Amino acid sequence: MVLMMAPGGTEEMAKAVLDEGAEAVYVGVMGWSRRGSLFEMSDDQIRRVIDYAAARGKEVRIVVNTMPSSTEVPMFIEHVRRYSDWGAQGFMVSDIGCMRLLRDLVPAAQVHTSVGCGITNVEDVRFLAEMGATYVVLPYRLSVAEIAEITATTGVGIEVFLFKTPSGGKICPGKCMMSSYFSFKRELDEHGKDQFYGSASRGGDCLRVCQTPWQLNCGGTSLIEDLTIKSNPALWLDELPAYLGAGVNCLKVPGRDRSTELVRGLTRLYRRALDRILASDHPDLTDLREPLEEFRRRWRAERGQRDTRLIGQAETYAADARAA
Ligand code: SF4
Repeated sequence: MVLMMAPGGTEEMAKAVLDEGAEAVYVGVMGWSRRGSLFEMSDDQIRRVIDYAAARGKEVRIVVNTMPSSTEVPMFIEHVRRYSDWGAQGFMVSDIGCMRLLRDLVPAAQVHTSVGCGITNVEDVRFLAEMGATYVVLPYRLSVAEIAEITATTGVGIEVFLFKTPSGGKICPGKCMMSSYFSFKRELDEHGKDQFYGSASRGGDCLRVCQTPWQLNCGGTSLIEDLTIKSNPALWLDELPAYLGAGVNCLKVPGRDRSTELVRGLTRLYRRALDRILASDHPDLTDLREPLEEFRRRWRAERGQRDTRLIGQAETYAADARAA
């Protein structure tokens, strides 16, 4: 069994991906996920998505992948109990203490590690399995051979993103803490939870400072101009049979902060690809390459729009902080 999970950045998107063949949808709780509030849901919306999925025999994963402070842990417990009582089958978490807590609170829950866990090697996977993970998500850059070793020796579910970094990235997914340093605005929400705008690990959308050109200066001397520190991941397809052959059993369609139409199309395409691979030892994916190329183009265009919006916000927050 291979679980295909797709994003529900909005209620409309969540319903669309379930209609297009995802077995599960992942949705972020307002203020508790590594995305901004535009792509998180209120409790009413989450409950409607859970009911929609249940009526179709599908599942919901709740994204609570911030790193809560001790004062926020009671709120974390409340959230987890509530969504579990409503029928959510699983959760996506980063914080290892909360992961263990979750396993105790809801023993039957499917626990997915978030990219925020920052896996580097097979020992990290083993550790997270011991902490209670059902599925461990791998970073984008592992080879098929490395994945095969992990699946053969750990016995835990293995999840991969359907996008990966081509080459040359200097940042390990999940290990970047830069967003914490560029969080200029902080306030309590209506539930008494701290909101750090700009900090992915504390529940705000990262302001994507890695996407601007950087300069390296030392003692007033400029050493490097226009330094690129992040290479962006791209959607992939042809490697899929090899990854499944290596034992991967959960595929994650990305795009919680993309448009519903783009994510709907991607889910449909990957559903077709997965069905063919599961039905044949020699699946023909040729006719899917051209549509994928078009999706890649739209993916890049939407990423550019998102980054411009977030970097603009960073400039506004910084100017406000300077003026205060
Ligand atoms: S600064 Fe870039 S690499 Fe770091 S968390 Fe933000 S988007 Fe990710």
